[in-house]
Amino acid sequence: MNAGGGRTGHRGPRFNGRVPGRATPSLPLLADPAVAGLTVTDPDILAGHVRDWTGRHVGSSPAMLRPSTVAEVAACVAACHRTATAVVPQGGNTGLVAGATPLGGEVLLHLGRLAGVEDADADAGTLVVRSGTTLADVQAAARAIGWEYGVDLAARDSATIGGTVATNAGGLHVVRHGDTRAQLLGVEAVLADGTLVGDLRGLRKDNTGYHLPGLLAGSEGTLAVVTRVALRLVTPVQDRAVALIALDDVASAVRAAGALRRSLPDLSAVELLLADGLALVQRTHGLAPPFADPSPAVLLVEVAGAPGVVDRLGAAVEGIDGVGDAVVAADPARRAALWRYREVQTEAIARVGVAHKLDVTLPAARLAAFAESVRADVLGRWPDAAVWLFGHAGDGNVHVNVTGVPAPVDGEDGVDGVDDLVLRRVAAMGGSISAEHGIGRAKVRWLHLNRTPSELAAMRRLKLALDPLGILNPGALLPPT
Ligand SMILES: Cc1cc2nc3c(=O)[nH]c(=O)nc-3n(C[C@H](O)[C@H](O)[C@H](O)COP(=O)(O)OP(=O)(O)OC[C@H]3O[C@@H](n4cnc5c(N)ncnc54)[C@H](O)[C@@H]3O)c2cc1C
Repeated sequence: MNAGGGRTGHRGPRFNGRVPGRATPSLPLLADPAVAGLTVTDPDILAGHVRDWTGRHVGSSPAMLRPSTVAEVAACVAACHRTATAVVPQGGNTGLVAGATPLGGEVLLHLGRLAGVEDADADAGTLVVRSGTTLADVQAAARAIGWEYGVDLAARDSATIGGTVATNAGGLHVVRHGDTRAQLLGVEAVLADGTLVGDLRGLRKDNTGYHLPGLLAGSEGTLAVVTRVALRLVTPVQDRAVALIALDDVASAVRAAGALRRSLPDLSAVELLLADGLALVQRTHGLAPPFADPSPAVLLVEVAGAPGVVDRLGAAVEGIDGVGDAVVAADPARRAALWRYREVQTEAIARVGVAHKLDVTLPAARLAAFAESVRADVLGRWPDAAVWLFGHAGDGNVHVNVTGVPAPVDGEDGVDGVDDLVLRRVAAMGGSISAEHGIGRAKVRWLHLNRTPSELAAMRRLKLALDPLGILNPGALLPPT
C-alpha cells in the first residue's frame, strides 16, 4: 500500500475560527503539569498516527497524549481546554474518512491504552468496557460469559469500541442486530472542558430525558471523548451456515437479498461481491475461484440461529429465481474460507493503489441503477481508473472504491474530482453520502448534499454548546462556517 501516496493532507481551513491558537511545537499544553508523563513527541512514533489507514490522508502533529485511565483522559482534555489546544481523539486509526487524522497539525489524544473490560454480567447480558478496548476483545469478553456482541467488521483486531461508537460503525450484521448505536445501554464521556458525564448502569429502560449514547454515537469525536461504554449483548447462536450464491447482475442480487430477508428470520449477513472484486482477491490473496465459472454478482449469505441452519439456508436459496450456482458451508473452517472472499476486499484494493473510498447507501430500488451508472460515470471521465464495488447488500450499503485516477485530478477532491462526481450521483438518487464510515475530514465538503442548512445550523449550535472553544476534532464532520 502506498504510504501517503505522495500527498500531504488537504488544503483549506482546519479550524472553525474559534480556536485561538493552533498546535505548534512550542505548545503551552506541553508545559501543563496535567499532561506530564503522558506525552509522546517522538516523530517516529507519531508517524504511524498522523496518516489514515488508506494512506490517502497524511497530517502532522506536535504531540500525542496517551492517557490510560478515565481520570487521565479528563485531565488531558481539561488541559487542552485551558490552553485552547485543538485535539483529535484517536482509537485504532482504522477509520476510512480521515476523522482521526490531524490534517491541521492538531495534538492527538490516543485512547488505545484506556483498554479493558470492567464488568461482564452474564445474567443481564451486558458488558462495561473502556473505550480503547478492541472490538475483537469485546467480542471475546461477550463469548466468555455465554453471549455475543452484535457488531462485527473486518478491522476488529485494531478498531476500538470508542471508535466504533464515535463513528456509529455498522459492519457485517446490521441486517440482524443494528448498528453500534443500537448496542449502547450507556456511555461515559469527557466533555470539552474536562467534565465527566454519563451513566454506565446499563439499564434497558430509562426515559429520563436526552439520550447521551444516541447523541455521541456518530459524533466522531466532535462533542466529547468517549471513555467507557455499557453494551447490550445478543443471544448466542447454536449453529451457523454460510453460502455464496452466483447471480446474473446487481438487480438480481438486490431481489435475492430481499427474498432472503423475508424468508430467513435468522439471517445475519447479506454481502454483495462483484466479479472483478472476486477476481482481485483471488489474485492478491491466492484464493481459489468459488465457482467453476465466474459470476457477475455474488451474494455471501450467513444464517445464524437454532440447529437446522443449513437446511433452512439451502431451502431459501432454492427458492430464489436466477441462481446460477451456490456453495454452502457449515463447518467453521469452510465458513471462514467463504467469508474470506468478502473480508479481504478492502485490503486487496489497498494493494492496487491508494483508493478513493466512498461508503454510500442507496434505496434498494436504485442500487442496481447506481452500480451501473457510477461505473460508467467514472470510467467515462477517467478511462484508466478502476471502480470496485462491494458492500452490505442487506442494508443498501455499497462501498465504492476508485483506484487509478491520475494526479492532479484526484489531488484534493475538488469540485471536479472523483468524490464529487460519485457523491453527487448518490445524493441525486436519494442516497446517503455516508452509510457507516462517517463524514470525518474526507467528506466534510459534501455534507450539505444530505443535510439542509437548518440541520447544519442546529448541529453547529449543539457543537457550540458542548465545545464552545471548538477544540474537539476541529475540521471533522462539520463544514467550516
Ligand atoms: C479493513 C477494514 C474494514 C472495515 N469495515 C468496516 C465496516 O464493515 N463497517 C464500518 O462501519 N466500518 C468499517 N471500517 C472502518 C473502521 O474500522 C470503523 O470506522 C471503526 O469504527 C473505527 O474505529 P477506530 O477505533 O479505528 O477509530 P479511529 O479510526 O481511531 O477514529 C474514528 C473516529 O472516531 C473518533 N474517535 C475514536 N475514538 C474515540 C473516542 N474514544 N471518543 C471520541 N471519539 C473517538 C476519531 O476522532 C475519529 O473521528 C473498516 C476499516 C477497515 C480498515
